[in-house]
Amino acid sequence: MDIHPFLQRFSQAFLDAIFPPKCLICGAFDGLVPDDKVSFDSPAHVTALYFCEACRKGLIPIASPFCSKCGLPFISREGEDHTCSECLVEEKYFRRARAFGVYDGSLMEAIHRFKYAKRASFSRPLSALVREAFFRFWDVNSIDLIVSVPLHMKRLRERGFNQSFLLIRRWAKQEGLLFDGLTLSRSRWTEPQTALSRKERQKNIKGAFAVKDPEKIVGQKILLVDDVYTTGSTVNECARVLMEAGAEFVDVLTLARAV
Ligand SMILES: [Zn+2]
Ligand SMILES: [Zn+2]
Repeated sequence: MDIHPFLQRFSQAFLDAIFPPKCLICGAFDGLVPDDKVSFDSPAHVTALYFCEACRKGLIPIASPFCSKCGLPFISREGEDHTCSECLVEEKYFRRARAFGVYDGSLMEAIHRFKYAKRASFSRPLSALVREAFFRFWDVNSIDLIVSVPLHMKRLRERGFNQSFLLIRRWAKQEGLLFDGLTLSRSRWTEPQTALSRKERQKNIKGAFAVKDPEKIVGQKILLVDDVYTTGSTVNECARVLMEAGAEFVDVLTLARAV
């Protein structure tokens, strides 16, 4: 007789009675889907385990038309994807950048709590959204190696985890995708970018990254992952360094995209 599933359900019910599950974003006790209705393969279901219905409705997926290069969604909801005016004039070292959703509403709130309140518990629902975006725009065979945007050691100690790494760790391994969290490194400390203008960000981030073992990068189709694409200065600088090291191409996937 296999009593494991029974015991598991029993202990879950017991825990739920003492600590009723609540929405990680707003703290509401309603609108969450119970554990036994969730399958890992469905991102919608995974997020329903952690985020209430109202917060889930506040997640705005990126939809066409958007810039075919940097993924910026256009204000006009008509027409085809095309290159935005910025990508026509500014050099981008990545091939294309895509994101799960708009950096606003409950997604913005979730990312803030995840990063600044150091709530690693967000990694499961948020990585499910990154996984969904990955399969919306790529397939497993089109990428050789996943690389996350590295944190400086000082920031890593402060936060205790690299949020970009947590966004892919679980599902990348399951899908058999190779992940490298060491080859691309942060060679220089940079001030937080949030208060800086676009030009200042580019200057601030220049020369901040280095590739330790170029032989791991040569000829590789690379997917670079980060939490938020704001002006793109960080991922563009990472892509520049990776291309210089001999990557075949660098694509970018972020959880959110500032609009
Ligand atoms: Zn909520
Ligand atoms: Zn663009």
